[in-house]
Amino acid sequence: MIGVAILGATGSIGTSTLDVLSRNKDRYRVVALTANNNTEKLYEQCIEYKPAYAVVVDETAAEKLKIRLAKQSLDTVVLSGVENLDYVASLEQTDYVVAAIVGAAGLSSSLAAAKAGKRILLANKETLVMSGQIFMDEVARNNATLLPVDSEHNAIFQCLQSFNGSTGLSKEVSKIYLTASGGPFRKTDIDKLEFVTPDQACAHPNWSMGRKISVDSATMMNKGLELIEACWLFSADVDDVQIAIHPQSIVHSMVEFIDGSIIAQLGQPDMRTPIAYALAWPERIKSGVQSLDIFSMANLEFEKPDYERFPCLRLAEDAMRNGGVMPATLNAANEVAVQAFLDNRISFMSIANVVENVLNQISNKEVTDIQMLVATDTEARAMATESVESMATAFAGSKSHA
Ligand code: NAD
Ligand code: MG
Repeated sequence: MIGVAILGATGSIGTSTLDVLSRNKDRYRVVALTANNNTEKLYEQCIEYKPAYAVVVDETAAEKLKIRLAKQSLDTVVLSGVENLDYVASLEQTDYVVAAIVGAAGLSSSLAAAKAGKRILLANKETLVMSGQIFMDEVARNNATLLPVDSEHNAIFQCLQSFNGSTGLSKEVSKIYLTASGGPFRKTDIDKLEFVTPDQACAHPNWSMGRKISVDSATMMNKGLELIEACWLFSADVDDVQIAIHPQSIVHSMVEFIDGSIIAQLGQPDMRTPIAYALAWPERIKSGVQSLDIFSMANLEFEKPDYERFPCLRLAEDAMRNGGVMPATLNAANEVAVQAFLDNRISFMSIANVVENVLNQISNKEVTDIQMLVATDTEARAMATESVESMATAFAGSKSHA
């Protein structure tokens, strides 16, 4: 039996992972489940999956969970505090770590899993955006296995395998096509984008996801982060990766080889497919995903991305080209800006402005260690908060006039 720790178990990826595990109980057992503060859901998950450990970051919430589980005579050990995310990621009985925490909060535990030499099923793309080189070095040094859960990267990984079981770029690969749905605002009038609401931004046409990544999909910062993620995962350069808007989200990405072959991975837009592949690789297991009815499929369209509509794409590309602390800065500023948008404090279009302001302010330097990245994250968040403040008053004013 393979022991699985799910970090961010109560989220969208976490619950999809548990669904796949429940269909493959003969292969996997749940060692640990973690949540930020949603103990209601974590409680239900503990009852159903009986993990050895449950971690709730919030101490008061952890206390409550402990009492409730004790009443059910469950022997799950309940821990609190961020350091215990790292702890369960490194446990002896943990074979696989599903890194499904959202944002920079997932960095430390992803790194802990790498240092402990685990199989890492990486959903938390922010880990690679922030600490690409350091993380990849830790994976290599500790013989960890890194498997992408992000659907596009999982697709690219599957396509690359068609060449000699390869896991990265080789001279036989001529291009990676990173597909993108274009989000809910692909066709919205640009002048109307200023006034879209958080709920409109989170109403993704094809995927059901957490709110942060949903907003990232609407600004296409998600694709920018994924571009950076792809560069690290597959040792590619920005220019090796072509972003392609594919509104149907059926082709999850493609790889072109020098002989003119393009290998694509297709399927329903359902994260249980990439999760199942990362769990079972190099084998395959059932995921619960419906078969794709190719006869009822509409046309498959592909368009070049519009950088004017989606300024975040350019910001991410430039951050990756400039390297150093720029990708970590981009990520931190984006997290602050997205939260401010979700809290109705700034407009949708201001997200890119906040990120750009911060990237222009910070001075770039080479990354030497993780402490430096943590310091950059803190500095960029402070700058982004200031930038948000300077826009918030005007935004509140514009709303009261509207
Ligand atoms: P979500 O918001 O639904 O869930 C996030 C999880 O992280 C929850 O369990 C929450 O309790 C936990 N969490 C949040 N803040 C935390 C903190 N400060 N400390 C510890 N735990 C914390 O998010 P999601 O949509 O499942 O996305 C998770 C990650 O997977 C993100 O990095 C996202 O980019 C990536 N991803 C998601 C999808 C998807 O379809 N949802 C697809 C590809 C990649
Ligand atoms: Mg994706």
